[in-house]
Formats: sequence, structure tokens, C-alpha cells
Amino acid sequence: MFRKILIANRGEIACRIIRTAQRMGIATVAVYSDADAGAMHVAMADEAIRIGTAAPRGSYLRIDAILDAARKTGAQAIHPGYGFLAENATFAEACADASLVFIGPPASAIRAMGGKSEAKALMAQAGVPLVPGYHAAAQDLPTLQAAANDIGYPVLIKASAGGGGKGMRVVTSAADFPQALAGAQREAASSFGDDRVLVEKYLTRPRHIEIQVFADSHGHCVHLFERDCSIQRRHQKIIEEAPAPGMTSELRAAMGNAAVAAAQAVGYVGAGTVEFIVEDGQFHFMEMNTRLQVEHPVTEMITGLDLVEWQLRVAAGQPLPLTQSDLAINGHAIEIRLCAEDPARDFLPSVGLLQHLSLPADIRVDAGVRTGDRISPDYDPMIAKLIVHGPDRASALRKMASALRRAEIVGVATNLALLRAIIAHNDFAAGDFDTGFIARHPDLIAAHAPPPDAAIAASVLTILAMRAVRNSVPNDPNSPWGHSSGWRMNLPTTQTVTIQSGETNFAVHAQADGALTWDGKTCRAALANGRVTLDGVSVPVTMVGLTVLLAGAVFPFTEIDPLLPPETSAAAGTKVTAPIPGRVTNIAVTVGDAVVRGQLLAVMEAMKMEISLTAGRDGVVASIHATVGEMVAEGTEIVKLADLLQP
Ligand code: ADP
Repeated sequence: MFRKILIANRGEIACRIIRTAQRMGIATVAVYSDADAGAMHVAMADEAIRIGTAAPRGSYLRIDAILDAARKTGAQAIHPGYGFLAENATFAEACADASLVFIGPPASAIRAMGGKSEAKALMAQAGVPLVPGYHAAAQDLPTLQAAANDIGYPVLIKASAGGGGKGMRVVTSAADFPQALAGAQREAASSFGDDRVLVEKYLTRPRHIEIQVFADSHGHCVHLFERDCSIQRRHQKIIEEAPAPGMTSELRAAMGNAAVAAAQAVGYVGAGTVEFIVEDGQFHFMEMNTRLQVEHPVTEMITGLDLVEWQLRVAAGQPLPLTQSDLAINGHAIEIRLCAEDPARDFLPSVGLLQHLSLPADIRVDAGVRTGDRISPDYDPMIAKLIVHGPDRASALRKMASALRRAEIVGVATNLALLRAIIAHNDFAAGDFDTGFIARHPDLIAAHAPPPDAAIAASVLTILAMRAVRNSVPNDPNSPWGHSSGWRMNLPTTQTVTIQSGETNFAVHAQADGALTWDGKTCRAALANGRVTLDGVSVPVTMVGLTVLLAGAVFPFTEIDPLLPPETSAAAGTKVTAPIPGRVTNIAVTVGDAVVRGQLLAVMEAMKMEISLTAGRDGVVASIHATVGEMVAEGTEIVKLADLLQP
């Protein structure tokens, strides 16, 4: 076994790998970018080395810097985690050239599975079932259009080099095909430097079910059952579970055998995942991910195994610890991905400081950030994974519902409320779902709920307490100037506090005796010892500044100074700004263009996502303030619109 390994990654997966290494007595080396000098994975590792700038290109993707760090620290092997260099065959080879063990499959297997088209051709030869489709070399419009017509609409265009849902377009009719193809090719070229695509039948109600496989260098290969990853947004997973609801032992055996055949066809060694799409009891190969997956913990929970330990053993040349007949499923596990993103704004990633992060301590939490860390635009917006295990699916669901009620996050927008709504949904509980579940249930994404009275009271009482501290006269407790009761000659002692939540203002009148009045109602309120009491009923509350957390729901408030003039709205919609920091990848208009509301103006890329900036109103492009390739800060004006002059 290795004495020391280097982890060429960051965040939760780096922390997760370090934990297993520590348990096995293996020393660890972390690498970090300038953005991560104080990160959790750096704090956990035995040694840490800076490898460059915040942007991944300048750090976590730098093969030379990572190999240097390994050499300098005497690490014997490199674990790539997932993302970054995990599926980079050149990196795997460079490790071997530097006499370092790459904790992953052979470079040849990464290459064989690297292109979706090539992998499909290979799988067809190995007898693994595919979605009907076209994945040959010719890429001209007539050939692709003819292929789509043959397959029958709807079809899905996918980037051959794809990943992360980029370069994917659903096409419902022949007439829409040329434009969709151009869009997919453009996105594929800009994301992967490769505009080749494949076309396949678009299944309308499929489940995403994948098989975890493991192979050693002694010719053994097993599967560790399936994971159901059908709950997705933007074709990307947010809830995964094992086993798959409704799975039969026959289908499991057939998919397991197909996955093992897929791995063996490319001489696989290590941990891998063969992804299938399943509809009407038929399964079809989608792709193989030649690395550890984000959702591997659910497999660990139902098998009782540590997959990182298996990776280390296999990389060190040991045989697999168990054979297929030794493996069994125990109970049910569910994982959710808690992400810094706003479901109400089309899942736009949210960046910022985690002012408060409190996750349940009685379940498995794989996190890479703590209170006080930043969610940075340079990296994936995942905050943490929560994983529960129970004897059956119903008990696992109950545990997850409880865990999500107790999760508290302040500082960034999150998908917490959406996750809660899905876990509580009857159809999800009944196992009646497919990959279109979130898209088909827009009600899951609630408009921001109005704050309950307890939240309004807690926020107002916090402001009053702060005023009291600010006003106190330190050396004279009896000074009339130190009282903040609002005393006024011949008037009752009230203070008015105006707070804003979303678009709504609340003008709350506070009496000296603790009564609060607003919107025509009066209640007695108190805030002490982590509880807010309203007319005698108290509930736990967490205050982060003026933000109130009640049962995990976040209610941010701001105090309004009633003397300030209201903001003018005359200029509404003329400035089109970057909603988060990122890189401008396309400017779709030129100065002088007339545009209509909703028209695409520019495209940005941030946090592995494309963000379209559209016109909020009809008008004409007055000026453009960014260039393609430029990094822009949040709030930077990209395009200015002006009123269209009538001729
Ligand atoms: P990526 O590698 O970009 O993540 P995948 O090929 O893994 O893309 O597909 C991502 C998701 O897109 C799948 O989990 C599934 O929900 C959906 N998908 C892929 N292929 C099809 C298809 N032929 N029909 C319907 N949905 C599909």
C-alpha cells in the first residue's frame, strides 16, 4: 500500500478521499489554488502545496504543477477525484511517465470511453444495448438531418465530447433541426474545442439508472448494483438513490452483466460507472464515466464498502476484496446535492460568502466548505451532499426529510427548498418519477414564501436590541440619552422599525412593554436563548444578522430608512448586467440592433454553466461594454439598451 498520496482536487471530494486515506494510515498531500489557501481540504491534509491561480486552467488543470507537487512531497500516487483531470488520458500517462501511480483506469480505457460516439460504436460491438441513433464520423447537415429523420422525432443532439449537459438539444421536428444543430455545435466547440455531435432517439419518460463497476489488474470485474439518478435539472443530477425503486432482480442482473461487459471491452481497471437510460423495462447504454462519481456514497451505504479504499487497493496492485457472489444490497440509501443556485432563476449559480452553514450531525455529510468559506465563481456550486440510509426506502425518505428540515444555510441562494419539496412529493415517494420530474412539476419551485409573523418579530427585535446597544451611554446607566425605549413627552413610548422582505415592507410599531403592532395586528414577542416567542408559543430560531432561520427556511430582511427617497425606476431594463461573475463567451448583438423583449444579447459562462443574457424590454442596443473572452464581475454592465426611436 502507498505511504503517501496526492489529491489533485478540491472541495468535498478531496476531503472525502483524505478521510479514507487517514483511516488507512496513508499520508496525504493537498494542492490548492489562490482561492483555496484557507480551504477545508488544505486544513485536513498532512501537507499542502499551492499550484496556481483561482481559475482551474491556472491550477487544478495544470499537469506540470501537480506532478511537481507530487515530486516535491514524495507522494507515490495521485488521486484525481472527479472533474478537473479525472478523465484526462494525457494526465494519466504523464503520471506514469513520472513514475507516479494514477489512481484510476489505464489511459487507453479513458480514451476508449472519452468520446460518446466512439464509446457507443465500441459498445455496439460488445453487444451492449444502445439508444437508436447516429454516431458515425460524417458531420454535414444533410447526413445528420437524414439520420434524425430516420430515427424519428423527438431526437436528442449531443456533443460527442460532451459532459455536464453542454451541447445538448432536444429537437421535436425536422424543421427545427438545422438551427438546433448549429446551436449544439457552437456550444460543443466553445466548451470542448470539438464540435462533433451524435443524434439519438429522445426518450420522453426515461429513468437514468447507472451501474457501479470495479475491476482489478488481475482480471476480476464486479458490479456493485445500480443507482437511480433520475431526479435532474438541466439534465444534471441532484438526487440519487440505491437501489432503484421498482428494479427487478432480472433487470438488475442484465444491466449488471452489460456494465461488466462494457468495462471488460475496454480493459478497465478501477472504479467506473456505466450509465444507462431505462424506459419500459428496456435499458440503453449512454456513456461510461471512468472515475469515481459524485453519487458513489449511496453505493457505499447499501454495500457497507468504502469505494475509495477499493480504489487505493486496486491502484496498489491488490485484487478486489470481494467477488460478485459476496456482494449484497442492504437497505436503501438516498443522497441529495445541496447546491448554491436559485431554482426560481432557472438554477442560476449563486456565489458569495457562506455566512452560516449548519448541517445535521447524525447522518453522513460530505462537505468541502464551512461557515466563512466562499462559494467562488471558479468552481462547482455544490455546497455539500447529505446521505441517509435506512432499512427501506420509506424510512430513508423520512430521514432525509428530517435532515433537510435541519439544514441551515445563509449567504447564498440554495436549492434546499426544492429538495425538501421533492422528498415530500407523493409521486416521488411512490417511486413514480423519471428524468422529467422537476420540469413537469413547476410547483416544486415555490415563489419565495412570505415571512411568517415569528420571522418578522425576530428581525424587528434584533434591530431593537442593536439600537439599544448602539444608544447605550457606557458610563452612565441612568442617563436619559442612553434609553432606547422611544420615550417622547406626552406620547406613548413606541419605536417604528421598517423592514423589507423581498418586495414587501413591514412597518412595525414596538411598545416599550414588548408588544409589536403591524398590519393591524398586535402580538407580544420576545427573542432570547435561541428562541422566538410569539403570544406565548416559542420556536427555535437562528439569527444571522437580520436574516431569520426558522425550521431551516431562510427569511432575509433589510432595514429600511424611511427618510431615504424611493429608488427611481425610469431606467428599468436599460442596463443588462452580469448576474454572477464569469466569462463572456458570446455577444449576439451589435450597437444599433433593434431587439425585442426576451431576445438573446450575450452569453456568459460561469461555474460550469452557460448563462444567457436577454433583453428585459424592447429597444435598441445603445452600447456594448464587454468583449468575448473577458472575465466580468457580478453586476458589470454588458449591454445598454435605449428606447427605440419612432421613425
Ligand atoms: P452529460 O455527459 O452531458 O451529462 P449524458 O449523456 O450523461 O450527458 O446525459 C445526461 C442526461 O440527459 C441523462 O441523465 C438523461 O436524463 C438525459 N438523456 C441523455 N440521453 C437521453 C435520451 N436519448 N433520451 C432522453 N434523455 C436523455
